[in-house]
Amino acid sequence: MQTGRVQQTLAGCIERTGKSLHSGKVSTVKLWPGFAGEGRYFDFRSNVIPASIDYATESPLCTTLRKDGYRISTVEHLLSALEAMEVDNCRIEIENSDPEDDDHVEVPIFDGSASEWVKAIEQVGLKVATDECGQSYERMAAHVNEPVHIRKNGSVAAAFPSPEVRITYGIGFPQAPAIGYQCLSSAPFDSSYYTKQIASSRTFCLYEEVEKMRNLGLIKGGGLENGIVCSASKGWLNPPLRFHDEPCRHKVLDLIGDLSLFARFGSQGIPVAHIVVYKGGHALHADLARMLSASI
Ligand SMILES: [Zn+2]
Repeated sequence: MQTGRVQQTLAGCIERTGKSLHSGKVSTVKLWPGFAGEGRYFDFRSNVIPASIDYATESPLCTTLRKDGYRISTVEHLLSALEAMEVDNCRIEIENSDPEDDDHVEVPIFDGSASEWVKAIEQVGLKVATDECGQSYERMAAHVNEPVHIRKNGSVAAAFPSPEVRITYGIGFPQAPAIGYQCLSSAPFDSSYYTKQIASSRTFCLYEEVEKMRNLGLIKGGGLENGIVCSASKGWLNPPLRFHDEPCRHKVLDLIGDLSLFARFGSQGIPVAHIVVYKGGHALHADLARMLSASI
């Protein structure tokens, strides 16, 4: 359905360099204005990988896009910012500082939130996107007409018909009382709500699981500066938190990044629905996006 506004893109180019969370390597991302109807896509070593659920693969603790043997990991915070800030069309050029790593690259983590990307998008601004003939396109959005849901290992993700986008997210970490049970119900979701309430919430992990993750080759670039760490017995190791329910808000940030993969040809990624998730993760979010793709 029509959203009443035309597709947008960036008014200029953005370049940011930083260390990545899992590989610990440095990469550079350049965001370029895109043509209307192109949507968002990565350009890695001249290989185009659309930011689409069709190329999302299972990977622990992050969302990875894979095409023709090339992989781009930890795309979710960048895509979350682009989707929520209504950057409908964008070429995302990404380079690896390590020439030996020629088929894999990871988006920098910065402080573990989407703030760096949101600030950059606000600085450069947005403009109406046009195609090569100067034509602008209406931004379309999918509406959920029948409830859909998935249950998996005690986790649930569902989408219900609603006149506007709303998100309700619950998490449960009884083993870490400082996190415990949290639930966030969003106001009608838009870019202003996102920038004020969601974008600055950082990724989090349990201190007791850090060693296990490092042994699996994950979070090699992780430190106290790019996420919040909670110990089951000692509580938060690097306070203060930016919100009392920052972990739950970060889950909403991740969900938006993962649902952004539902976007096609510059349309809105988040479907118009009330989306409810309990104890979700990237794999469950991707399953919901796939289920919505099949049902709408
Ligand atoms: Zn995240």
